[in-house]
Amino acid sequence: MKNRSVKAFIQSMPKVELHVHLKGATRPETILKLAKKNNVELPAKTLPEMAKWFEFKSFNHFIDIYSLNASCFAEPEDVEFAAREFLAEQARQNIVYTEVTYTINQRKMPFKPQLEALNRAKAWAQEEFGISMNYVIDIPRNFENMDPSAFSTLFATHAVQGMGNGVIALGLAGKESTHAVADFSDGFDIAKEAGLPIIPHAGEAMGAQSMFDAIEHCDPPRIGHGVRCVEDKNLMALLKERQIHLEISPTSNICLGIFDSMADHSFAEIAAAGIPYSINSDDPPYFNTTLTDELIIVAERLNWTIEDVQAHMLKTAEATLLPDAEKAALISKISQPFKIDDFRLDSMTT
Ligand SMILES: [Zn+2]
Repeated sequence: MKNRSVKAFIQSMPKVELHVHLKGATRPETILKLAKKNNVELPAKTLPEMAKWFEFKSFNHFIDIYSLNASCFAEPEDVEFAAREFLAEQARQNIVYTEVTYTINQRKMPFKPQLEALNRAKAWAQEEFGISMNYVIDIPRNFENMDPSAFSTLFATHAVQGMGNGVIALGLAGKESTHAVADFSDGFDIAKEAGLPIIPHAGEAMGAQSMFDAIEHCDPPRIGHGVRCVEDKNLMALLKERQIHLEISPTSNICLGIFDSMADHSFAEIAAAGIPYSINSDDPPYFNTTLTDELIIVAERLNWTIEDVQAHMLKTAEATLLPDAEKAALISKISQPFKIDDFRLDSMTT
């Protein structure tokens, strides 16, 4: 990096993250512990075996691993424990606010105690670290035999029930190839009726058409990934015109084979096109990354100055789904240490 102080600034500055999955952020050690406690049979029994298991062969292979790991959660205490660990790591990176995606474990626990467990962890982190989070409740489209109408209705109903209690959006995640976006319309209608925004994953495993479909059926303020928008100029023009924000997670896209290398990644083209975007970690331990690392990668490639990093993070805060007063408070909070003249390089580690 040209300017080492940019890296130090990224490491220290207060950050906001919009796209990270709680169950995808759970440490392998914790997954092993929960599997043992809840008698879930995993193909890996030790950390080295977990590392080998995490060598993803394809997007769908990753989703299979994610789903099996998520099934290790059996009690609200498991959710609270993982959420506390997650928030402690966010605090370590000075991520002061996160919109975290949570996949409901609908087979083993009712939703209400899961939401209460998340909110206990949230209250703890607010007290302990002064940081906060809210939830995107996603519809997992992983199950080939499911009825998408019933499934999306169930998850959207839960998400709407959690409004005002931490839930700020309905998501759509998992295997894009299993069902079309339109198949989940019944769930989207429930969210729209309640005024709950929808943030679908699209333009990751599938191409531009998946994003056109997501825009048509979800009217999303943001799209998870969306990095394959560069395959269609009309789509890029539409994203710019409507200022639909893309939640980009560069290393995730490399690990899952969406792009061959970081040099091939589309984020520079997206940035140059004037499409709003943020940088995120997605499932950090799976991809051996952190939000800090992702920001450093992008800053290096785009030759960002400290001022550029500052502007990017303020735009990320603008793209949160917080009510206006809370958003203003967040922007004020992350702006305070952005007084660059006060930025003391000698107190940083690089
Ligand atoms: Zn994701």
